[in-house]
Amino acid sequence: MSRYILALDQGTTSSRAILFDHHGQPVASAQQEFRQILPRPGHVEHDPEDIWQSQLQTARQALARAQVEPQQVAAVGVTNQRETTVLWERDSGRPVAPAIVWQSRVSAPICEQLRRQGLEELFRRKTGLVLDPYFSGTKIKHLLDATPGLRERAARGEVLFGTVDTFLLWRLSGGRLHVTDPSNASRTLLFNIHTLEWDDELLRVLEVPRAMLPQVCPSSCVYGQCDPQWFGHPIPLAGCAGDQQAATFGQGCFSPGEAKNTYGTGCFMLMNTGTEPVASDHKLLTTVGWQLGDQTTYCLEGAVFVAGSVVQWLRDGLGLIESAAQVEQLARTVPDSGGVYLVPAFVGLGAPYWDPYARGLVIGLTRGTTAGHLARAALESIAFQSADLAEAMQRDSRIRLSSLKVDGGAAANDLLMQMQADLLGVPVRRPRVAETTSLGAAYLAGLAVGFWDSLDHLRRHWALDREFQPEMDPDTRKQRRARWHQAVKRCLGWESPES
Ligand code: ADP
Repeated sequence: MSRYILALDQGTTSSRAILFDHHGQPVASAQQEFRQILPRPGHVEHDPEDIWQSQLQTARQALARAQVEPQQVAAVGVTNQRETTVLWERDSGRPVAPAIVWQSRVSAPICEQLRRQGLEELFRRKTGLVLDPYFSGTKIKHLLDATPGLRERAARGEVLFGTVDTFLLWRLSGGRLHVTDPSNASRTLLFNIHTLEWDDELLRVLEVPRAMLPQVCPSSCVYGQCDPQWFGHPIPLAGCAGDQQAATFGQGCFSPGEAKNTYGTGCFMLMNTGTEPVASDHKLLTTVGWQLGDQTTYCLEGAVFVAGSVVQWLRDGLGLIESAAQVEQLARTVPDSGGVYLVPAFVGLGAPYWDPYARGLVIGLTRGTTAGHLARAALESIAFQSADLAEAMQRDSRIRLSSLKVDGGAAANDLLMQMQADLLGVPVRRPRVAETTSLGAAYLAGLAVGFWDSLDHLRRHWALDREFQPEMDPDTRKQRRARWHQAVKRCLGWESPES
């Protein structure tokens, strides 16, 4: 009797494996950090073998900790750091280069060149993305340009491309599967989100041979089996989605208008916009959420670059607190921010501003300003930035948000969650199961093998930890958000491209 689903969550700094039971409850987990390779400023790499080994070991550890035999596992679901690019040899399975991590700016010159050729709009229209080194396509081009003969080998089908999901599914299946799902494909700059196919025109522009690309399959479907050498028994490989989309699914945001925000180092907000892609007028990304059968669900996505990391700055940069959790206590020493606004544009600002030249700012200081006011302003900055994203999403989708589901490390902060509800004017809902990313991957895999039978069934798993109701009156909300926007305006364009 198969009683569990194994979720593999291959993240940027660690690999994790969580075993879920039929109620969607985690029963055992394991986690392993792995090496971050920083060859030059702004370049970030992983060794694909580190990714694989850490993922395999955590999967085995989770099974061992739960004392679960592989026969008891109904399926494996994979979720992953998105956009990170791996190239490997079809015959040997050996990577031909380090994985280029999503954070890496190594392909910035390629993006610049494409922009100069006036191609930004083409990519935007077909892929829903902006021309930024973040996404896989220009990373592939960079790798193929850098090694003589590699492009020719790729064209002959000897060298394969995959995002991390694809690489893991390849390895797990013993080299039998070269597949991905539309949520991962939609982050490559090569995938047309309207036709749901690799796009020949974009492949030509980026000089990427089609022969190296994986087959795109639904996010929930039996792709194949785990090779018995890994766990001693074959297990169906049945679910796949990029981490943010998996978290949206794990939060049960199955209907248009439902949205989640993850409060980690940065924030990622995704809103389900239904079965048609919504183009953004506010510089948000349009992306595939997931594909179930032949039905594709799209999302709008926005990111806040500095969220939880502003709290790390209070701790490590200013020494105001000793642990991230202490920020709440410090912020509660004052009833409000005393007119202080902190814009943490440490690395520029993302949507809806997209200004790489903005820099951080604290304004409204008086002789009476205390560390408590700064702590409060720092937490508010996370909520203000997220409110800006939510507003942009609502305008683009013309859907009104009725509540916001939250997760991530900083969602544990009750004061921050209350601020968020106040600034959005809708309830903020925090679930009991915090592992929403893994849960989403488990759901996708479990649906494919009949372990769970419907989205309605999964919806019933979602259990509330705490709901935060908006308490701020609408006039105050309006006035405070207007003040925040004044502060943002003052920090835009502070650095210039030349400086
Ligand atoms: P990531 O997955 O991006 O590494 P996590 O979801 O683990 O992030 O969250 C860690 C981030 O959340 C850190 O930036 C940390 O400063 C912040 N954080 C953790 N606990 C709290 C808290 N109680 N209040 C505010 N921020 C917090």
